[in-house]
Amino acid sequence: MITTMTEEIKTWEAERIRQDQIDRYLKRGRDFIPDDEIEARLAGAVCPDASWVREILAKAMEIQTLSPDETAALLAVRNPELWREMEEAGAKIKNKVYDNRIVTFAPLYLSNHCVNNCAYCGLRRDNEVIHRNRLTQDEVRAETEALAGRIGHKRLIVVYGEHPDSGLDYITETMRTIYRVKVKTRRGWGAIRRVNVNAAPMAVEELKELGSAGLGTYQVFQETYHKKTYARLHPKGTLKGNYLWRLYSMHRALEAGVDDVGVGVLFGLGDWRFEVMALLYHAIELEAAMGIGPHTISFPRMEPAANTPFTASSRHQVSDADFQRAITVLRLAVPYTGMILTARENAAMRRSLMPLGITQTDASSRIKVGAYGEADQPAQEGDRQQFQLGDTRSLDEVVRELAQMGYITSFCTAGYRCGRTGKCIMDLLRSGQEGKFCKLNAVLTFREWLDDFASPETKVAGEPIVEREIGEIRARMPKVLEQFMDHYRRTSGGERDLYF
Ligand code: SF4
Repeated sequence: MITTMTEEIKTWEAERIRQDQIDRYLKRGRDFIPDDEIEARLAGAVCPDASWVREILAKAMEIQTLSPDETAALLAVRNPELWREMEEAGAKIKNKVYDNRIVTFAPLYLSNHCVNNCAYCGLRRDNEVIHRNRLTQDEVRAETEALAGRIGHKRLIVVYGEHPDSGLDYITETMRTIYRVKVKTRRGWGAIRRVNVNAAPMAVEELKELGSAGLGTYQVFQETYHKKTYARLHPKGTLKGNYLWRLYSMHRALEAGVDDVGVGVLFGLGDWRFEVMALLYHAIELEAAMGIGPHTISFPRMEPAANTPFTASSRHQVSDADFQRAITVLRLAVPYTGMILTARENAAMRRSLMPLGITQTDASSRIKVGAYGEADQPAQEGDRQQFQLGDTRSLDEVVRELAQMGYITSFCTAGYRCGRTGKCIMDLLRSGQEGKFCKLNAVLTFREWLDDFASPETKVAGEPIVEREIGEIRARMPKVLEQFMDHYRRTSGGERDLYF
């Protein structure tokens, strides 16, 4: 029986990778990450003088992608005053493109079976201490009801291990189950309105099906772009051991019409400066080859995981100070992109990193499969999850803290439902136009959330933010004011999901 199962998995694995869907994107047989060139640029970069740094910052402020030389120069800055200027420029860019909004979401792990054996991952195939589980459709529904009805999320990143049990059919079925859930709330009703997916690389045909099931953003992180490091951590013969199949995931997604793609690295595997440069190369390649850059960049830092010694022994652990530098340079290098900070970081770290230009963050996160329905269980159990989270605070606490810091939490999911995705959203973001729609939708969705889910303390923190935003709409957007106020009044009266 076991042999049969193993054979079935092997047959499935053998058919996953489509070499033709790698080769067609190569240029003269080469990929777009020239390891030697990146290393040479980093080694050759000298600390730039202040006037050059300011020229680079001015370019980033125009929402133009920086060049590799400019990015390498920023990474070589030593003067703390210049780093402060860079951080301030990053904050201004974020405000120019995304205003003072922070979008929130929750991760939802649906299956932790995996055929891969990544050295840093608690869910790797050979890790026998992990309890494996895959949710049934009823369990998916229960998790969604907890997220949309009790906690108040509107947007999920749904996570699946790479395994035939959680292949394309399971992914699309679970997405549809999630979208069907509608739950009564205090004043209205709750539902998940955007399902983003973090799953293994897929072929173009599969990605088209994923798009038809209502995919929001498709995330595949390269983990490390450094080829020798990648080969060391992802054993040869496993699916994930194929660097190029993973590297061209986003090309295939864009070819399939999936407009919003999310790239990322796991900081702690390789040299952090190399990874920052490589993320920039990836953005430049997508812009040039596919006409659209990454919708988001994620930069999780490696955290401890059960029975996973590599997480403690890596010589490339990224210090808090270097992590801050990495985020600062990424914000400047790819100024239009969304930047996702996760609950891997503890609350204090999240507070300090948020002003560097973060646009999205998760809250009330649980990464055990089936965890949201178990409100009475511990937030974390090492032998049921991929890694340890640093911040398990509730969404209510995070929303309150963001409000106290001056941010409005946006639950807006209108963009992709109105066709504002891909190149369209990129152009709107670069020109500062998207902010107009988003401001209106942020206020409407924040109103919904305060009325449906906020604790009394969070309402106290949130109401002045709503007032301030409405004041800005009144002052800056008179043409839409009447329509906006109509939507706002109806939302306050209990109508839901009104958007621009
Ligand atoms: Fe599987 Fe992803 Fe973990 Fe690798 S990182 S073992 S692919 S779940």
